[in-house]
Amino acid sequence: MTGDPHSRTDGEAPEDTCGFALADRLAARDARGLRRDLRPIDRVAGRARMAADPRRDRPVYGDEQLVFGSNNYLGLARDDRVVRAARKAAAAVGTGAGASRLVTGDTGLHRALERDLAETKGTERALLFSSGYAANVGTVAALDPDVIFSDDLNHASIVDGCRLADAETVVYDHCDSGSLCEAMAARQDERDAGESWLVVTDSVFSMDGDVAPLSAICDAAERHEAWVMVDEAHATGLYEGAGIVQREGLGDRVQVQVGTLSKALASQGGYVVGSDRLVEYLLNAARSFVFSTGLAPPAVGAAREALRIARQGTRPARLWNAVDRLRDGLESLGYDVLGETQILPVVVGDRDDALALANRLSDRGIVAPAIRSPTVPAGTSRIRIAPTATHAASELERCLDAFELAGRELDLV
Ligand code: PMP
Repeated sequence: MTGDPHSRTDGEAPEDTCGFALADRLAARDARGLRRDLRPIDRVAGRARMAADPRRDRPVYGDEQLVFGSNNYLGLARDDRVVRAARKAAAAVGTGAGASRLVTGDTGLHRALERDLAETKGTERALLFSSGYAANVGTVAALDPDVIFSDDLNHASIVDGCRLADAETVVYDHCDSGSLCEAMAARQDERDAGESWLVVTDSVFSMDGDVAPLSAICDAAERHEAWVMVDEAHATGLYEGAGIVQREGLGDRVQVQVGTLSKALASQGGYVVGSDRLVEYLLNAARSFVFSTGLAPPAVGAAREALRIARQGTRPARLWNAVDRLRDGLESLGYDVLGETQILPVVVGDRDDALALANRLSDRGIVAPAIRSPTVPAGTSRIRIAPTATHAASELERCLDAFELAGRELDLV
């Protein structure tokens, strides 16, 4: 009698047979410093306790720390009003949509949030997706242009959309409209022959905290009769609730705007806004919409309330105050802080230094992730901090004190 055929404890681990060699692949990731681990926290906003040993089955939480590494920019993820809205949606509509929107998963609540998003963005219509990732992948693939011009640092979901589309992808230099113009000019003959072109870019880049030159990108696209698609994931909710496209008055020149409900809007899900025809097309052709269950009603309810609060403007104003204080404080300590948005990448340089700094900050009760090469270019490893609107002034000072002490200990400032 051999052992239990389902047992995975005897002999060679099944995933390492049949040529998959997952252990080797993991070891290769280890060697390149690319091995990641999940590290649970006990709540998502403000003060949280983080698991001491991430590999344990049940998390053993350490001391309470201040989270400076989340995208919950407006601090709404545990806001009473938002929590109430989620509860109300669950009670009234259900905990899950139960089916794709095209089958029986479409509710009045989904429609209401889509109306709110379209109104906020000043577009004809909006369409919800199950995540920002799904919105980008599904939209780029469904548009299926002949050529996609894509910023070098675009988010992975855009990159994956380019891979799925049956298109040639031309990558232009990061935030460099000159590089985009050159790439477009070099192919003008093909455009004249009737190719469809899509330029796609993040508005706010999550690792550098910088902003795409959207107006120059629109100029270039118009010269070559291309469409522009902008991913507003990190800007949604922050500029009168709308994003950089609205701030720059480019609503009429950007054909496709994508975003997420999972950052400032403190929920889950993604969206596309644009013309009625665009949305009509996507709800028929974007496979990540068609073949995925409608967004869970509590997520829709929470996002709707968060959007309402974001549009009032007081939360974003508090966020910008916190950002200004942290940027000033870090720069006066001698740190090199990139970007021009709520994302503050504190560049340390060496990848080991970045990790050491993150660990020392954590010893002092500040959670802020080290982002190291090869995620960012060698020599630019960094700590990415992002305050939320609800960090108290004393908490910002605690963060700065930790940066000062840890930086001195490590000879970084
Ligand atoms: N676009 C950008 C620029 C992002 O940073 C992210 C999330 N990290 C996404 C899209 C994906 O959004 P979601 O988390 O809702 O899938």
